[in-house]
Amino acid sequence: MYFNKNNNFFHGIMFHHFHDDGIHTKGQGSIDKDDFYKMINFIGRNNILDADIFFEKFKNNKLKEKEVCLTFDDSIKCQIDVALPVLEELKIKSFFFVFTSIFEGKPDNLEIFRYFRMNYFNNVDEFYNSFYQVLDKDLKTFFQDSNDKIKATKIKFSYYSIEDIKFRLVRDIFLTKSHYEETMLLMLKEKQFNYKDFFKKLYFQKDDLIRLDSLGHLVGLHSHNHPTLLEKLNYDEQKDEYKKCLSLISNILDKPKNEIKYMSHPCGSYNKDTFEILKELGIELGFKESMTIEPEKGMKKINNSFLEIARQDHAEIFKIIMN
Ligand SMILES: [Zn+2]
Repeated sequence: MYFNKNNNFFHGIMFHHFHDDGIHTKGQGSIDKDDFYKMINFIGRNNILDADIFFEKFKNNKLKEKEVCLTFDDSIKCQIDVALPVLEELKIKSFFFVFTSIFEGKPDNLEIFRYFRMNYFNNVDEFYNSFYQVLDKDLKTFFQDSNDKIKATKIKFSYYSIEDIKFRLVRDIFLTKSHYEETMLLMLKEKQFNYKDFFKKLYFQKDDLIRLDSLGHLVGLHSHNHPTLLEKLNYDEQKDEYKKCLSLISNILDKPKNEIKYMSHPCGSYNKDTFEILKELGIELGFKESMTIEPEKGMKKINNSFLEIARQDHAEIFKIIMN
């Protein structure tokens, strides 16, 4: 049973990566078409609401305990290739939260780096080791100082290994974004990975967005550049992230901006400024990336505010099914 005493409240289910026999290779946390069917069955088809219904009920305070919606983050093509046919077959309309730099021909390298990590190393730890070698920095003190944070993160995201968490800390906190990217690009070069060919295969194109919209799925905001730690940005930088994202979606879909009212926080990162900005932009529903109450963010309860709706990572559900 998916629903139990730990998650008897409405929430979203968060999906990222899917794999198939083609370009979308199996990687950390990815699922295939059959896994996706299984998961929907396990949650219970009747508990899954169409995105527009979920939104309407949410606004009218009518959502029931066990009602969920499906959400897809990060504008990644495998969702179109693997998940969308299943959604269409089962007639489930979902939320797609997209970051928009990819539609300006300047995609973030997030997916390229992931593809590289998954396909050019025997396992992810081999990648981490190789990354630290190229980086060539003494990380001992940093890891020691981060000990509490590592432990806390492991509790919150049990599906991450300690090495996954350490790597993310180095990427998001120890390094600046440009230093991280430089290091990765060095590694790509070393392995002669010609990543420019991959953008189209790994990311949504404008047509994908238009198709999703015309099928009745709801496209929402997920920032412009997908910073891994948005809360580190100042007010103006954050505002720029979401304003650009909203403008581009509204342009591509040829829809007024005030019809786009939903979002999810990239990497679950936000602060008070973010809330102010999102309210100003007319956002009426925002999703987090976890099922926990975070007191350090001022949360007092689950689904604390309309911009802090919980989501269960699909990996957690998969773990329950497998046990
Ligand atoms: Zn994301």
